[in-house]
Amino acid sequence: MKLMVIGCGGVATVAIYKCCENPLFTEILIASRTVSKCEALAERLRPMTKAVITTARVDADSLESLTALMNEFGPHTVLNVALPYQDLTIMDACLACGANYVDTANYEAEDTDDPEWRAVYEKRCREKGFTAYFDYSWQWAYDERFKASGLTALLGTGFDPGVTQVYSAYALKHYFDEIHYIDILDCNGGDHGYPFATNFNPEINLREVSANGSYWEDGHWVETKPMEIKREYNFAGVGMKDMYLLHHEEIESLAKNIPGIKRIRFFMTFGQSYLTHMKCLENVGMLGTTPVMFEGREIVPIKFLKALLPDPASLGPRTVGKTNIGCIFTGVKDGKERTIYIYNVCDHQECYRETGAQAVSYTTGVPAMIGTAMVASGTWAEKGVFNVEEFDPDPYMDMLNKYGLPWVVDENPVTVE
Ligand code: NDP
Repeated sequence: MKLMVIGCGGVATVAIYKCCENPLFTEILIASRTVSKCEALAERLRPMTKAVITTARVDADSLESLTALMNEFGPHTVLNVALPYQDLTIMDACLACGANYVDTANYEAEDTDDPEWRAVYEKRCREKGFTAYFDYSWQWAYDERFKASGLTALLGTGFDPGVTQVYSAYALKHYFDEIHYIDILDCNGGDHGYPFATNFNPEINLREVSANGSYWEDGHWVETKPMEIKREYNFAGVGMKDMYLLHHEEIESLAKNIPGIKRIRFFMTFGQSYLTHMKCLENVGMLGTTPVMFEGREIVPIKFLKALLPDPASLGPRTVGKTNIGCIFTGVKDGKERTIYIYNVCDHQECYRETGAQAVSYTTGVPAMIGTAMVASGTWAEKGVFNVEEFDPDPYMDMLNKYGLPWVVDENPVTVE
């Protein structure tokens, strides 16, 4: 099976490493903006796999550049692990070239000042009641076109979004008649030793974390100020941590796909030092996405900040500690209320020893490979645009155990108030 992977950062490194362990993928093309990174990774992986690995330069913002490469290589499936800005262009290229599409993050506009985009965004804010710069409407709008072309697009197969929704489908299938409450808890107990760094792409990460929070309750969105809602939780493998309610993209698809759901919240852990640094950077304008003039040339503050911060792909050797990501579900089974917690604990140093990347890239890259394998093998074969919870979770859950992200079901967990 011919797979084309677009992007060659932290997440891509793990996803491609794991694709090389899966005999389904016989030919892998790694295509990204900086081809030297693709070639360095290919050289490292060739001795450990039977898959034929080639590399190419591509500009994933250019439909022309993408279609030329896809027509030459002829991929069965394309895994997009570049940035959310490129999602729509890559989906267009897949339709033009007859390839299935897989990604790990939903579409986000790079230029949030673009008046055409802004008009659609402001209408959505009014109608739906949340102000995040990303939502699924842009990609769900491709459903008819993927159906008509006999192709599958699988959206958001990282950990969160991704595994958290597979856990939801699994809980619904095996533990509940109806799920009423979902709390998604994302804990990173890792320490990289820097005063401030982000664990994945800084621009995407800081945009997400500095935005308003929101949750889904009784059929509508409730929006909060950034970091307004704080809880403490004692995470298995990590210990007690502060966590904050954020808006997160899988809330939108779970609200649509889990019947009878009453509330969905998402919490992420942050240390005080991270929050203080972020607030300071925000206060001085360093998180801005609008270009400013500096010494005669335009710069985008957050892009300049990205250039100053440590490259997330370089954090692997120095990060110690564990992540714990999972979902607490409350609902009914046979007329009785029950609560379960499904989660994974992942160790940064073990991930690094295996793949050369830390656990945040690992917990995203492994599910990116698994979702791609579901589509490429025809295990998930329906045509159109889908989120992961719309398919049978069992084969995916089996692969999580097999490929390094084993999960635990706790049938008597502590809940979040
Ligand atoms: P990185 O910044 O490390 O990697 C992005 C890669 O995409 C780089 O190799 C970059 O090239 C390449 N790229 C960027 N723009 C273009 C372009 N126009 N054309 C071609 N290639 C391009 O990001 P991460 O690996 O940390 O994240 C990858 C994706 O995973 C993101 O979409 C992120 O949101 C998502 N993610 C999802 C998570 C989940 O749980 N669902 C969690 C974490 C991340 P270059 O090397 O030249 O910079």
